Amino acid sequence: MAESLPHPVTGKLFASPAPAGAGWPDDPATRRTPVASSADEVRDLATGADLDSLGARMSVCRACPRLVGWREDVARRKRRSFAGEPYWGRPVPGWGDDDARIVLLGLAPAAHGGNRTGRIFTGDRSGDWLFAALHRAGLAARAASEHAGDGQRLIGTRVTAAVRCAPPDNKPTIEERDACAPWLTRELELLAPSMQVIVCLGSYAWNSALRTLRALGYDVPRPRPRFGHAAEAAISAPGGNEVTLLGSYHPSQQNTFTGKLTEEMLDAVFTRARMFAGVG
Ligand code: SF4
Repeated sequence: MAESLPHPVTGKLFASPAPAGAGWPDDPATRRTPVASSADEVRDLATGADLDSLGARMSVCRACPRLVGWREDVARRKRRSFAGEPYWGRPVPGWGDDDARIVLLGLAPAAHGGNRTGRIFTGDRSGDWLFAALHRAGLAARAASEHAGDGQRLIGTRVTAAVRCAPPDNKPTIEERDACAPWLTRELELLAPSMQVIVCLGSYAWNSALRTLRALGYDVPRPRPRFGHAAEAAISAPGGNEVTLLGSYHPSQQNTFTGKLTEEMLDAVFTRARMFAGVG
């Protein structure tokens, strides 16, 4: 029997991984949420879902055996510094404004970040950097994002990921990437009426955004626009509007420790994002 530990915000006891509908802050799922067990079932459950049911369904997905095993094993073993906390240990849904003009896209949850807290870019060093920058740009209510239920709120912005389960070494396989793609495709389809800008944190996110937009019928140029920090690409939507892709180096410790990505560089990306989104 897994040990139950108190959630750092609410004090409620949870096993790791956290069961669906057990009261984890912002858990979108219930015990009756349908569970995808294959790539075909992901496609079926994503098609036609609204944002709430999409988040719920992806948060209980079990379509990729390797990733399910790994995320749950990490949740049970934990990092020593978090040994007293329960781990979410499930796929991490998109989070933020349902009518977002700015969408931030990352690769996947971190093993001891999103996979622990249940909220994307929350509880790790990359998230600390990202949310501090979002707060400076007026796109997040608080400068830090530590736990689900901590009062953080995104403003006109949504944060999401190409792959929803934490992968070993941050490297999902092509099959896992493709199995997970319908969740993001449906999410961007639902956000399309408001979405003006997609900020892609790293080349993986950039390429994922281009593949997803192409799947949704956007006019993605060939050859594909290339990723780079501060790269920009205007992509025409089927209805004639445009969405702008903005590239940013990922705020990984490797990039921020070495100075490859500075606060000023990230701030400049969000200044551009606000401009394209018509915010402020
Ligand atoms: S990576 Fe995506 S498709 Fe695979 S189990 Fe996780 S949520 Fe499901």
